[in-house]
Amino acid sequence: MKLILLAAPGAGKGTQAEKLSANFGIPQISTGAILRKNIADGTELGVTAKSYIDGGKLVPDDVMIGIVTERLKEDDCKNGFILDGFPRTLAQAEALDKSDVVIDKVLTIEVDDAKIIERLSGRLECKGCGTTFHKLYRVPAKEGVCDNCGGELITRADDKPETIKNRLDVYHTQTEPLKDYYKAQGKLAVAYGQEKIEDTTAEVLAALK
Ligand code: ADP
Ligand code: ZN
Repeated sequence: MKLILLAAPGAGKGTQAEKLSANFGIPQISTGAILRKNIADGTELGVTAKSYIDGGKLVPDDVMIGIVTERLKEDDCKNGFILDGFPRTLAQAEALDKSDVVIDKVLTIEVDDAKIIERLSGRLECKGCGTTFHKLYRVPAKEGVCDNCGGELITRADDKPETIKNRLDVYHTQTEPLKDYYKAQGKLAVAYGQEKIEDTTAEVLAALK
């Protein structure tokens, strides 16, 4: 199963990718997580990426295409993978099509903008392992502490209100057109985001059947 998850920021892409990764036994490749790790480690890539991410802008296509094509060559991707956060532009999608990789399905998770804003505003992320929590929808057992690794939970710099608006604009103008691109290839599957994570997972699994 070579799968792309396509959805607005905060639609639950990462959370559902985690579930699918466990379900199908294939790796979740989250470009956002890769970039944030590089920022935390202070790599050259991290320094470049930070200014874009904090402003709610996309990291340049050539950078992202390089990262993902290299990652997909690794052994663990042989039997499948879930791309979470890539492609985000037409140029990225075309580059993926030009590589040897053949994508089986592209799943979108539909959530309206008002809901997205509400979700991103309450989102928390573990500084240690990157797992996502939410002040209302995925409350950690102990406030401010990651259930997985005990790490500290923080609000991402790009989850500030001004930045959230930019990210939504970028999604609608640059990423959403990819739905038509993959629909034309007969690969598009659509799921509707629900209030509860497990209900969304059920939608997602049904859409992938
Ligand atoms: P979200 O989907 O919630 O916006 P991500 O963790 O997927 O969060 O991405 C965070 C940020 O990382 C994006 O806003 C963007 O700046 C950058 N980024 C991630 N993936 C890509 C990509 N494929 N192309 C360009 N920028 C990316
Ligand atoms: Zn953690």
